Amino acid sequence: ITAWANVPMGPPDPILGVVEAFKKDTSDIKVNLSVGAYRDDSGKPRVLDCVRKAEDFIISQRLDKEYIPIIGLDSFNQAAIKFAYGENSAPLKENRIAVAQSLSGTGSLRVAASYIQRFMGSNTTILVPKPTWGNHLSVFHDAGLKTTDYRYLNKSTNSLDIQGFLSDIEAAPNGSVILLHGCAHNPTGVDPSPEQWKQIMEVSQRKKFVNFFDVAYQGFASGDPHKDAYSLRLFTDNNLPIILAQSFAKNMGLYGERIGAVSIVCNDVEEKNRVLSQMKILIRPLYSSPPISGARIAERIFNDPSLNKEWLTELKGMADRIIEMRSLLKSHLVNDFNSKLNWDHITSQIGMFCFTGMTPEQVVRLRDEFHIYLTSNGRISVAGVNSKNVRYIAESFHKVTQ
Ligand code: PLP
Repeated sequence: ITAWANVPMGPPDPILGVVEAFKKDTSDIKVNLSVGAYRDDSGKPRVLDCVRKAEDFIISQRLDKEYIPIIGLDSFNQAAIKFAYGENSAPLKENRIAVAQSLSGTGSLRVAASYIQRFMGSNTTILVPKPTWGNHLSVFHDAGLKTTDYRYLNKSTNSLDIQGFLSDIEAAPNGSVILLHGCAHNPTGVDPSPEQWKQIMEVSQRKKFVNFFDVAYQGFASGDPHKDAYSLRLFTDNNLPIILAQSFAKNMGLYGERIGAVSIVCNDVEEKNRVLSQMKILIRPLYSSPPISGARIAERIFNDPSLNKEWLTELKGMADRIIEMRSLLKSHLVNDFNSKLNWDHITSQIGMFCFTGMTPEQVVRLRDEFHIYLTSNGRISVAGVNSKNVRYIAESFHKVTQ
């Protein structure tokens, strides 16, 4: 076969490359801080009890495996948007949110990006924070859109560069699409404060932006799903145009089930019906209809009151463990190893990730001398930290930053 003779080798995924190197390391003190999936305190993946119970219930029902509709299970969709926008949300109560179950956060982002490309045009530029989750750029570019950065991280303090952020979006054309991480920004862990969100909203409103929220960590960041939905609800309650991509990978621990939702807030029911008809037309040739299993599990967790209660407790447990590991890591650095550096960002940042401020050289030393694996931008997944390895991680961080 000669057809593929000129296909060049693609670069490996930067995160998966770190995982490969970790696997090859034979040291028994090795620590993987690169992967964006929750681990319990013994370093194991966690399947929530509410998920196991929902699965047992679903199996007992002996349901069929027919295709579900193009836009997925309605009982899941309605529950997903109620979770995000809040039960008192006006667009929700007025039934004017177009929503489709999609393939976790990534698939939802892609459907939304294709919608933007089709109805706002190929020349549409999406404003994205610098840095952002690497896959955002690939998803948007593959959907035929362009991206430009707005400043986000102040590297000297590892906190939000709010002035840079506001002045960059102020300079963008009116009517732009702006991508906003609703909470627990990936990769920095740095979120705007409620006051800063209001400042961002003011610019967005004045400049008539379309606000494209990526909410992949609702409830996982603070432990409180309402608190983590603050930014989305602030913008929606003030009637700004909203597109939302939701993922239930992290907060339900349903990573491989690929369950998420894409929604668009419309002016009225008639407009919603038109928008939804176009979402169906976009989804059909992409993947026809979404998978059934994750939707059934998530639907049970949302709609069965006792499972829902159990879920919210388990969700808070995951968030609290991460918050606790942040304080332990900082406390070891400052109190046990007397690091003179400022590590406040470890606890002021939120969610699964922490931007440590490590340089690429320090990341290499951590890997080669201490068997600690993180991505070259200095990001760690706090989920990989546990009560057994936290002291060792702190000691190693101190040694490479001394
Ligand atoms: N958006 C952000 C910011 C993320 O960090 C992730 C996962 O890491 C996703 C979206 C989507 O992930 P998934 O497609 O697994 O739901």
